[in-house]
Amino acid sequence: MKRIALFPGSFDPLTMGHLDTIERGAKLFDELIIGVFVNTTKKSFFTPEEKLAIVKESVQHITNVRVMTQKNELTVNVAEELGAKFLLRGIRSIKDYEYEKEIALMNQHLDHELETVFLLAQPKYSHISSSILKEVWTFNGDIKEYLPEPVYRALEEKRENSEKQ
Ligand code: ADP
Repeated sequence: MKRIALFPGSFDPLTMGHLDTIERGAKLFDELIIGVFVNTTKKSFFTPEEKLAIVKESVQHITNVRVMTQKNELTVNVAEELGAKFLLRGIRSIKDYEYEKEIALMNQHLDHELETVFLLAQPKYSHISSSILKEVWTFNGDIKEYLPEPVYRALEEKRENSEKQ
């Protein structure tokens, strides 16, 4: 049977830390599906459609990865519909660990068959988050090395459009 994993996240936007987790995770499973979801506790910077397009373009070099989005549905239900028996998540720090543990244990309660697999962030990416990158970008800081090219381009387009207004 195919080993399918779902990597759920808000990816607002995708960072090199996410991409590194995706590239490493793709080696562990037959298929890795990236679920671009809405995190109800965070205000979104990109629309779901923009995020989907950006993530698709950023992972096109990885053959066993595909990208999907779904609104208002529990991650465990999405995983079941996709035939995914694993969830993939990344951990940067002890703070992430505490947060990820709560989610993973709740998901285990909701679906005993679903295993969450964690990958530790590489040290070079363990200090970056979508929110800190957006904050630095707002004030024109140089964050290019932390962003996949399609993300960088989308952010620059956003800047150009806002300057036109
Ligand atoms: P969510 O809103 O669901 O937490 P995120 O897009 O913020 O979605 O993160 C998705 C997953 O990627 C989480 O497991 C998070 O810990 C992980 N992650 C975030 N940033 C990094 C990074 N720099 N390196 C590795 N993993 C990361």
